[in-house]
Amino acid sequence: MGVGAKIVLGAIADDFTGATDLANNLVRGGMRCLQVIGVPSQEVNLNNIDAVVVALKSRSCPADEAVTDSLAVLGWLRQQGARQLFFKYCSTFDSTDQGNIGPVADALLEALGANQTVMVPAFPVNGRTVYQGHLFVGDRLLNDCGMQHHPLNPMQDADLVRVLSRQTPHPVGLANRAMLAQGADATRAHLSTLAEQGVRHVICDTLDEQDLDVLAEATVLMPLVTGGSGLGQALPAQYRKQGWLETITQPGRLTPASGSALVLSGSCSRATLAQVADFLDKHPDGGFALDPLSLSEGDKQQEQALVFARERLSSNSPVLIYASADPDKVCAAQQALGVARAGALVEETMSQLAVALVNEGVGRLLVAGGETSGAVVSALGITTLRIGEQIDPGVPWTQAALAGRDAPLSLALKSGNFGGVDFFTRAFEVLV
Ligand code: ADP
Repeated sequence: MGVGAKIVLGAIADDFTGATDLANNLVRGGMRCLQVIGVPSQEVNLNNIDAVVVALKSRSCPADEAVTDSLAVLGWLRQQGARQLFFKYCSTFDSTDQGNIGPVADALLEALGANQTVMVPAFPVNGRTVYQGHLFVGDRLLNDCGMQHHPLNPMQDADLVRVLSRQTPHPVGLANRAMLAQGADATRAHLSTLAEQGVRHVICDTLDEQDLDVLAEATVLMPLVTGGSGLGQALPAQYRKQGWLETITQPGRLTPASGSALVLSGSCSRATLAQVADFLDKHPDGGFALDPLSLSEGDKQQEQALVFARERLSSNSPVLIYASADPDKVCAAQQALGVARAGALVEETMSQLAVALVNEGVGRLLVAGGETSGAVVSALGITTLRIGEQIDPGVPWTQAALAGRDAPLSLALKSGNFGGVDFFTRAFEVLV
C-alpha cells in the first residue's frame, strides 16, 4: 500500500540498473523519484514523491513470468494514482522472439483498456538512436555493435518493427523522423490514424533530444508509454505543462550524508577495472583484494578484509574491497569453482562485509557491479531507494532508510561499464 499524495508517473523497469537509469533521468527532468525493488509487499511512503520506478528482474525470464510480475506492479501503481505508466526496457531493445517486450506491453495495454502505445528505446546522449525504425548504437546498426553476440538475448535484427512483430500478434507501425519533424500535433494525429487502423505498437524514430521532446509532448496523455530512459528526461516538462507537476528546484536533494565511506567492487567490467586501478594509484594502501579461490577455503580472507576495513575506517582513510580481476584470473577461478559458485562466493562475501560495516558506522557506500549491487541491497534488507543527484550518466547517489539506524544510508550502485575512471573517489567528493 502507499502512504501519501498521488504520484504522477509509475514505471515498471525490467531490470535493477535500468530502473536506476530511468529514475536518474526523471530526477534530472525535475521529479522527486523513488525506486522500489520488486513488487511492493509492504507500505511505501510516497509523501513528496512524484514518480515511482519499480525494478523487476523480467528482462530475460520466461515471458509469462514477466507478464505476471509486470501486471502485479501495474495494479499497485494504479492504486497510487499514477497518471501515466511507463514500461522501461533497455535502449538496445534487449529481448528474444518470445519476448519479453511485446508480451508485457500487450498485457499492460489490455489491463489498462488502452488501444495503443509507443516504443521509444532511443537514448541519443548515449549514442542509441532510431532511424526508419532501425536501432543504431553509435554509428553501427544494433546487429553489428556486439549485441548480436549477447549471451541471453542476441540482437540479430536492427529493424525494430520486424523485431517487435515477432513478439506480438498485433500490427506494429512506425512514426518516422519526417513525421516528428512536423511537430507534436502532427505526430499525435499520425498516432491516431494508426490507432484507427488497429496499430497497437508504434516504433518511434529518435535522432536527438528534440525528437524526444516532440514525442513526450505527443504522448503525454497516453495511459502507457514504453521505452528507454531517454524519454524519461523529456516527460517531466510535459507534466508541468499539464499542471500535474510543480516546479521543484532540487528534486534530487537528499538528507545530508553521514558516516564513513566504503567502496565494494564485484564487477570485472573494463570500466570498473580502470576505476579500481585509479583508486589504487591514488591510495596504494587503500585496497584489499578478495579472491574466490581463497574464499572457497573458509572464512579467513573475509575476516582479514573486515580487519583491514575497520582499521582504515577508524582513521577515516579511503577503503576499497574488490574481487574485480582481469579476464585470465576470472577464468581461472571459474574453471576451478564453476561460474555460479565463483560469483556466489564473491557476492556473499561482499554482502556480509556490507552488513557488518554498515552496522559499525559506514554511512556512504559505493558498490560496483549490477549483480553485486543486487546482492548487497538485498542483504541490507533495502526495498526502496530515494534517488539523488547524478554522479555520472546513469548513476545517481541514492538513499535508503535502514532499521535501527537514525540517519539514512547513502548508496551509489554502479553497473559494470558506467562511470568515469575516477568514479571511486569523485563520487564521494560530489556527495553532500
Ligand atoms: P557487472 O555490472 O560489471 O556485470 P556484476 O556484479 O553484475 O558486474 O557481475 C560480476 C560477477 O562476477 C558477479 O557475480 C561477481 O560475483 C563475479 N566475480 C567478481 N569477481 C570475480 C572473480 N575474481 N572471479 C570470478 N567471478 C567474479
